[in-house]
Amino acid sequence: MTALFGIDLKGRRVLVAGGGHVASRRVKRFLAEGAEVLVVAPEASDDIARHAQHGDLVWHARAVEEGDVEGAWFVLAATDVPAVNDAVAAWAERRRVFCIDASDAARGTARQAAVSRHGELAVGVISTDKPDPRRIRAVRDAIAAQIDAGEVDLRRRRSAAGRVILVGAGPGDPGLITVRGRQALAEADVVVTDRLGTTELLVTVPYDVEVVNVGKSPDRHPVPQDEINRILVSHAQAGRTVVRLKGGDPFVLGRGGEEVHACLEAGVPVEVVPGVTSALSVPGRVGIPVTQRGLSTAVLVTSGHAGADATSVAAMTHGTTVVVLMGVAALPDIVAAGLSGGADPSTPVAIVESGTTAEERVTYGTLADIVLIAGETGVKPPAVIVIGNVARPDLLASQVAATPQRRE
Ligand code: SAH
Repeated sequence: MTALFGIDLKGRRVLVAGGGHVASRRVKRFLAEGAEVLVVAPEASDDIARHAQHGDLVWHARAVEEGDVEGAWFVLAATDVPAVNDAVAAWAERRRVFCIDASDAARGTARQAAVSRHGELAVGVISTDKPDPRRIRAVRDAIAAQIDAGEVDLRRRRSAAGRVILVGAGPGDPGLITVRGRQALAEADVVVTDRLGTTELLVTVPYDVEVVNVGKSPDRHPVPQDEINRILVSHAQAGRTVVRLKGGDPFVLGRGGEEVHACLEAGVPVEVVPGVTSALSVPGRVGIPVTQRGLSTAVLVTSGHAGADATSVAAMTHGTTVVVLMGVAALPDIVAAGLSGGADPSTPVAIVESGTTAEERVTYGTLADIVLIAGETGVKPPAVIVIGNVARPDLLASQVAATPQRRE
């Protein structure tokens, strides 16, 4: 029988006998746990040698001896000679030091768990009978997949200090949030959100999680930024895990910096989970690469809220790709500024509305005619405007499937 315990190896010596493939892999884990690793092996992999060179571990280039076990809290016997591993395991046993015998787990006093980490949680799976590494990994993977999919309620049950997690939700397709972002949602006691596009992500959130919508809606003005900051801080100060779910990436024209600032000022810890920004992903999804060898080697992401500034106009005239967010209302001003600044009227322009969602639509034109076309097709926000040669419809767009992926 084998029991499963968590052990703390931080700052504690781990003896690794052997320097081959298995040892290398396990050494990485011991180092990640903060252990003080001693490798004893006549020869070692490049990886171990490099770690030794950097001072991450100590490597003695010789055969392992009984005395090496002295002072170790934990031993890994992973030489390529089973008899040596068994001898190391026996030395460890005599000194009452737990040992994994890599050539025969049943002979050691400890065995390797298949582990996955999810924020501050670790899941470990072992076999209590005959070792069966592939089997325990399969079980671990199945559990990990559920957690990563946001299907497990990860809320803290014991009270702990409150915190804010700023999560980039991606452009709209629920498949485009990051794995950490999904986990964070499963950890949330409160979700503060401002975008209709994130509603699909909230489907998996348990019914008793408070969802605060601070965004624009047809019947309401958006909540002012100061008030949003206050909501985040007050929930966190009440000991809750607050997820601030923001469209795209929190730091791309998203005022995420102000929210981080407000939390830090109030002494509330903040984690930032970056997101897939609409500025790059919405064009990408419909086959518009924001840079492309021979066409454009730079991209400017800008807010079109107040029209086009001098930097955007200069970029348009120099062949830099210009990506305008929040620019639908000011499109005529932006185009006029570009043209009067000397941009070529034949410069391609593409407008992608509600990118990566079921409502996605792309409108193509040039600086000369896009205002007219956009008026005719009734382009409306949210939309990403791409100005530059990469926005030519015949570049990749016709070959890329733009249909959002959906799982029901
Ligand atoms: N932080 C966000 C941008 C916030 S500004 C990000 O990184 O994506 C809001 C603007 O983003 C919208 O006005 C629109 O220009 C753009 N936008 C966001 N999601 C979009 C989508 N799915 N399709 C098109 N534009 C989008």
